[in-house]
Amino acid sequence: MRILVLNCGSSSIKYQFINTEEKIVLAKGQVERIGMSSAVLTHTPHGKEKIRIVGEILDHTIAIEYVIAVLLSPNHGVIKDKNEIDAVGHRVVHGGETFSGSVLITDHVMKALNDNIELAPLHNPPNIKGIEAAKSHLPNTPQCGVFDTAFHQSMPNYAYLYGIPYELYKRYKIRRYGFHGTSHRFVSERAAAFLGKPVEDLKLITAHLGNGASISAIKGGKSIDTSMGFTPLEGLLMGTRGGDMDPSLILYVMGKEGLNLSEANTLLNKHSGIVGLSGLSSDMREIEDAVIDGSHKMAATAFDVFNYRIKKYVGAYIAALGGLDALVFTGGIGENSSLVRKAVCSNMEYLGLELDLEKNEKPVGDADVATENSRARILRIPTDEELVIALDTEKIVNEQMIQN
Ligand code: ADP
Repeated sequence: MRILVLNCGSSSIKYQFINTEEKIVLAKGQVERIGMSSAVLTHTPHGKEKIRIVGEILDHTIAIEYVIAVLLSPNHGVIKDKNEIDAVGHRVVHGGETFSGSVLITDHVMKALNDNIELAPLHNPPNIKGIEAAKSHLPNTPQCGVFDTAFHQSMPNYAYLYGIPYELYKRYKIRRYGFHGTSHRFVSERAAAFLGKPVEDLKLITAHLGNGASISAIKGGKSIDTSMGFTPLEGLLMGTRGGDMDPSLILYVMGKEGLNLSEANTLLNKHSGIVGLSGLSSDMREIEDAVIDGSHKMAATAFDVFNYRIKKYVGAYIAALGGLDALVFTGGIGENSSLVRKAVCSNMEYLGLELDLEKNEKPVGDADVATENSRARILRIPTDEELVIALDTEKIVNEQMIQN
């Protein structure tokens, strides 16, 4: 099947057009600066050069029209007719408690997505716009939603409830949801295949370390705990988000600095984390360069905080799982940073984790970077959230065809 995977943000749309039988990305690209006169579409067809188009793209409907047009284009396209798009798979950030798996988008689902807007006011509205735009251009093509939160719906209530009046959970659904679910699910399944064991028999910790970062405890293929919470702010230190902190500190800062709600939100989401602590950058490569050449003291401190936080969670999740078969690193940092893996795994031998420093240096593809003697494996597994979305979409469409 050929599936168009869409990840719609407030001013950008990332897309991949995937052939699911051969697991090939036929074309991929993104539209940035939607809503501006200088919007940019970059498009790379399989095996060809990237092209860049600049022009006015006022909204998501027009942006998706351009995406379909470039897929059809005689020079840079990969299809001749838009009917060759068999289905569209949408990344949707927040499925709330309504969705514990991927779904075919129906009017009922659209209503539930709208009902969940309050839980993800920044993310769900552009996801909804993207679905509506895709429906308007491809009215007869099935559309599916794949949720970042769905995989974590298996958490037990003692892991997802916060210590606030239960009434607030009932009234506003305030609880831990967790995010990056497609990635945690994908790498946990890949880890099981790599180890040649059924995922049902495994205790895994998956660390998705990118600009946003989260870590999950996965028992028997089900998420039992994860570090992101009610929003993607909780847990690990991230590029621009601080992760775990005492909630009363924000009330204190708001009072001291006279911040309103929106300013406090910006402080927590955009100016905290690695960039806030280091004062240098949110980008791990820049931080590592500064750590290596010793040029920036606070970059080194931010790096230590980042790694220490992950190490603490690994310890906590080994306790939650009652043991560990493998710790999996993924995401831009988890896949590429030997320094982060080394710092996180240092002095963890007593918990069964022993890193092979040589193997850790330049792993290729899915790789085991633990020593032979390590009781638990340490894996580096590149994530592929778009492929998960495409495969889920294919499965749903096939099931739908059988039912009809
Ligand atoms: P996103 O969360 O936006 O999808 P990614 O998963 O692509 O982001 O991760 C981006 C992060 O990965 C950045 O902090 C980047 O610096 C880091 N990164 C990418 N390559 C390397 C590398 N070779 N060494 C260390 N960090 C890296």
